[in-house]
Order: sequence, then structure tokens, then C-alpha cells
Amino acid sequence: MTYFKTPANMIGMNYLNSRLYDGIRKVGFRKWYERELLSSHAHMVLAFLCIIGMMAAFEAFRGGTLSDKLFDAAAIVACGGIGIWALRRYLYLLMNAEVVANQANCPECKAYGLFTALSEDRISGQTQVRCKKCAHEWQIEVN
Ligand SMILES: [Zn+2]
Repeated sequence: MTYFKTPANMIGMNYLNSRLYDGIRKVGFRKWYERELLSSHAHMVLAFLCIIGMMAAFEAFRGGTLSDKLFDAAAIVACGGIGIWALRRYLYLLMNAEVVANQANCPECKAYGLFTALSEDRISGQTQVRCKKCAHEWQIEVN
């Protein structure tokens, strides 16, 4: 999906989640995948909390003074902005993890997630991996 594709100049600028190559090198594919899913669902929870915050701010908007209404309007804007960011981040992390997981089967022996990262090309988003079971090499394309 090109909608969630990271621009080439932003690859490697993600401070919250490690890239596939770094993640596999540090903790292995399965842990990396698990962390990506946990992180994405944490963003989903944040988006849900923002919806609750927006609803509370709309509810409080009815009464109160002008300064109260201004504060409520600021809370609505803040919750809306953070909520949209969190929802986009949730969808991006989830889709990215699923795209990688769909390529995690060894083409030769069909072993799932048993590979080491050999190299990565940040521009094309491809990571060269080697199967731990049969030593077959293939490329995983990352968004
Ligand atoms: Zn294999």
C-alpha cells in the first residue's frame, strides 16, 4: 500500500520502533514482530483515549465561561490531532508488521521466522535475509 509508504528521506528516522534489519540483528524476527504489534496496538489505545477526550471536551463545551470554552476548544483540537496521528501510526505499524510477516516464510523449506538479517538497502527498503534452517537467502521488502 503506497499510502503508508515512508518517504525515502524519513527512513531510519523512526525513534520509537527499530527498523527490520536492526530489530532482527538485536532480538530476532519473532521478538521484533511482537514489539511492532504491541507498539501498534498501544497507538490504537492512544487513539481511543483521544476519542474519549474529545467527547468529554465536547460535553464540557456546553456550559462555562468564555475561557472555559476556549480551553475546551483547544482540548478538542489537541485530542483530534493526536488521535489522527495515533491512528495513522497504528495502521502504519500494523500494516508494516503484516507485510514483513507475509514474507517471513523461507521459500525453500517453508520455515517461518527463522532467519538472520545479512544486509539492508535503506533506499529501496529491501533487507537480505538467510534461513537458519537451510541457509537459503531471500529479500524481504519493507515499506
Ligand atoms: Zn529455509
